[in-house]
Amino acid sequence: MRTLPEPLTSPALLLRKTEYGESDLIVTLLSPGCGRLTAVAPAARKSRRRFGGVLEVFTEFEAVLEAGRGMWRLKEASLRDPFARIRESPLRTAYAGVWVELAHDWAEEGSPQEELYGLLRFALFALDRGEPAAEVLHLSFLMRLLELTGHAPALERCVGCRAPAESLPDRELRIDLGRGGICCPRCAQGGLAEPFLLSRGAAKQLLWIGRGPTGRLARLRAAPAALAEGRSFLERFLLRHLDRMPRSFEVLRQLDGGEAGRP
Ligand SMILES: [Zn+2]
Repeated sequence: MRTLPEPLTSPALLLRKTEYGESDLIVTLLSPGCGRLTAVAPAARKSRRRFGGVLEVFTEFEAVLEAGRGMWRLKEASLRDPFARIRESPLRTAYAGVWVELAHDWAEEGSPQEELYGLLRFALFALDRGEPAAEVLHLSFLMRLLELTGHAPALERCVGCRAPAESLPDRELRIDLGRGGICCPRCAQGGLAEPFLLSRGAAKQLLWIGRGPTGRLARLRAAPAALAEGRSFLERFLLRHLDRMPRSFEVLRQLDGGEAGRP
């Protein structure tokens, strides 16, 4: 007798949902154990009772999934945290939209993504709570995502000769976005592919925000100018590693005037 595979039970964050057929939804989820997965939620639109209104973007729930033909089937979804305050503010929604889109694009399907799950979950949790400030969370998320995916900017040493940043004569750090970090005057002699000047203060702050326990972020007394500079650098840096411009960046830029989405 053929035994049916066991259903998969896992915490999940809802990254994306689209209507499907007459009454179904297709949901894209991030799970710690299986990474990104796509599932059909049968009759989710016909009856709100079916999933208890749980299937909202950003929401964390406990999912029970059954392997189907080519796609998972969502059997049950019980709420863990709705992060409802995010959706009360267009700006908070825009920040969360960027993080969710980046997590969606970077998460691998079918392989464990525990760190990415933890990173996104913390960012949504803290944004919902309102502390630390969304601008700080944004930098923390971007720095940690780049680190996690092996694309962290080299802000401590020259990308060419590995000379430490403290030993460089420049008042501002000369960055080559194309090479992924600081370029000392000697290594920059042939010219920089895509130059960017970053103040030492902003670089130090980015490293502090991007490392160490996230619990300490709320203590940061950041100067708005250094935050804006760090953000402008990080968004430019990140966009170099993406094949396309995420739509959510444009939404965020329209709301708060950051660099994101600028051509
Ligand atoms: Zn060098």
